[in-house]
Amino acid sequence: MKKRSKMVLVSHCILNPCSKVEGVKKDTSYNLKLVKYFMKNDIGIIQLPCPEMYMYGSKRWGHVKNQFDTRFFREQSKELLNPLISQITDYVENDYEIIGVIGINGSPSCGINKVCTGETWGGEFRNLDIVNRKVKELVYSDGSGVFMEVLMESLRYYDIDVPFYPIEEFNPDDMINETISRII
Ligand code: SF4
Repeated sequence: MKKRSKMVLVSHCILNPCSKVEGVKKDTSYNLKLVKYFMKNDIGIIQLPCPEMYMYGSKRWGHVKNQFDTRFFREQSKELLNPLISQITDYVENDYEIIGVIGINGSPSCGINKVCTGETWGGEFRNLDIVNRKVKELVYSDGSGVFMEVLMESLRYYDIDVPFYPIEEFNPDDMINETISRII
């Protein structure tokens, strides 16, 4: 029997750290392990688009999920994902196996099971007191990023069952080892 070719979908910044918000560590050499593993094992890598770069550019602030949980953000995410979903359905129909989606925990867009949230995040940053209060109210919450939720829904719509794996934005090395061991 012919061996099925495998593919993985990865968040954009795993391959292109320049897309990250300014101030977030852009050294993603730790991703090399992940990419090497896939390449060594002939696993195709599909790079997902970066929704935040597309919608807000490289000068954007760090956001929280509360701000992106809007109809606009979801519609734009869907629009960005549509061409990819067409490709993915084609691959699946032609017996390729999508072995996983790898996202970035902490991201309000690409978190898999952890996202930054903040009820008061946003609005006017007039003085340091306001800024400090907002920062203090930032919560690392359970849940997926909005872009990942849209991707999950789209894959479900086409009955494509794919596991989702997180890389931890603030502790990537450990998470990468764990992700590799789970994905094998
Ligand atoms: S986590 Fe997602 S939104 Fe954030 S930089 Fe990476 S690809 Fe872009």
